Amino acid sequence: MTATTESLMLPQTFKFTSAEHGAFIDGTETAAGVSTIDTLDPATGRVITTIAETDNETVDRAVESAARAFEGEWGTMLPARREELLHRFADLIEENAAELAQYDALEGGKPISHVESVDLPLAVEQFRYYAGWPTKIQGATVPVSTSDTHVYTRRIPLGVVAAITPWNFPLCQAAIKLAPALAAGNTVVLKPSELTSLSSLRLAHLAIEAGLPAGTVNVVTGTGAGTGQALVSHPKVAKISFTGSEATGRHLGAEAGRSLKHISLELGGKNPHIIFADADIAKAAAYAATTAYFYSGQVCFSGSRLMVERAVLDDVLSAVEEHADALVLGHGLDRSSTMGPLSSATHREKVERYLNTVSGTGATVAFGGSRAKESGYFLEPTAIVGPADTDPVVAEEIFGPVLVIQPFDSIEELVPRANSGQYGLTAGVWTRDARKAHTVARQLQAGTVWVNTYADYNAAAPFGGFKNSGFGKDCGPAGLDKFLDTQTVWMSLA
Ligand code: ADP
Repeated sequence: MTATTESLMLPQTFKFTSAEHGAFIDGTETAAGVSTIDTLDPATGRVITTIAETDNETVDRAVESAARAFEGEWGTMLPARREELLHRFADLIEENAAELAQYDALEGGKPISHVESVDLPLAVEQFRYYAGWPTKIQGATVPVSTSDTHVYTRRIPLGVVAAITPWNFPLCQAAIKLAPALAAGNTVVLKPSELTSLSSLRLAHLAIEAGLPAGTVNVVTGTGAGTGQALVSHPKVAKISFTGSEATGRHLGAEAGRSLKHISLELGGKNPHIIFADADIAKAAAYAATTAYFYSGQVCFSGSRLMVERAVLDDVLSAVEEHADALVLGHGLDRSSTMGPLSSATHREKVERYLNTVSGTGATVAFGGSRAKESGYFLEPTAIVGPADTDPVVAEEIFGPVLVIQPFDSIEELVPRANSGQYGLTAGVWTRDARKAHTVARQLQAGTVWVNTYADYNAAAPFGGFKNSGFGKDCGPAGLDKFLDTQTVWMSLA
């Protein structure tokens, strides 16, 4: 089914159309370089606006501005005041939710109803949760085995954080990095993906409106190789917080090693989503389809590898297909859309290359596989049944609406196969047998395991991967910890 885009209008509140957007530094948006990049609407291929490719000199100004705010007003602000301002920031995101949602729906192609019901509440929740922390960050007194000595620790911020975000969850990812980094007392230079910069720029304006001192939140737009590289290699950046592809994560890890910067990496996933025969099959299949096709599968924790006990394979497949048939492919701003396009023409071609590897392997494309519309970068929800564990469609992250479905016969066979992949981000288990659920969950090499549910997320619950999915947890106390260092003070009482 397809939705018509004819009657779509740009949102009334859309303030950035056809203007050039620069970096946001020291409290104001500023011209940021000689070249510009067109931002495309992935549902039509049309140009939405242009953003700046922020040049090295401007990146340097952004980092210097963040360093000044860290040494100055933000770094020395009393914790209770920092809490107040972060709550105010959360209020403003809520008050401007309708506008912010439009940017991510338009640039990312994501159905606006999903941005409103998923992305925005998650972003606000990050600020609300971490706004409670500044008055609770504590050191310790240390019981050293030395006479007449008082030893204590202080938890201190790192300094300037380079926050690098991907295009799939621009607002959420910005919030997941900004909220704990700021709560810990750091200042930030945020580099959003060049495909989806507008909501990040708008957030920087809201930070100022909330009363955060100029320089506390800065944004530099541009490509990874240009602007991003200039940012992560800047000597005054103390910490890189990155979410994106495994290849870029490895590159930034090496960069952090060279310049001895702190780094945390949230990378890809090829997540085993396991359905046992004794599960609530209708519910499990509904979740399986939802997580596979949500945001066209462009989600690191998508349940993209469905492993089904053989006895219920046919039932699960037909239920998943029914859900896929009911999806309405359309423009992000169209309220009837439930699935949008892929992010770019290049990305759709990459997904299609994976589909081309299926023929001759013994696996079959059960449904989907074609371009869904003439304009835009749409691809039908697709399922591949029966690929081997080593086939590229199983071993690699496709990041598209392509669900691979594999049967299994026993727990003994299942667990090593589910753990055979290079990634370890998330997993799901569906069964009515609690003992089986716990037995499998503890053996799965995944940072998060959902049982009889999938994709639940909360600012209080640590989230992050094992193996090639990276390291450093988001959310919860662990999410704050990675933006803090420890200082130990020894004092002689002799
Ligand atoms: P994705 O395809 O999920 O966007 P990428 O790893 O390509 O994943 O990009 C994630 C983010 O990392 C984007 O903001 C991108 O511009 C940025 N990026 C890519 N290469 C670099 C780099 N060398 N230095 C800094 N940032 C980079």
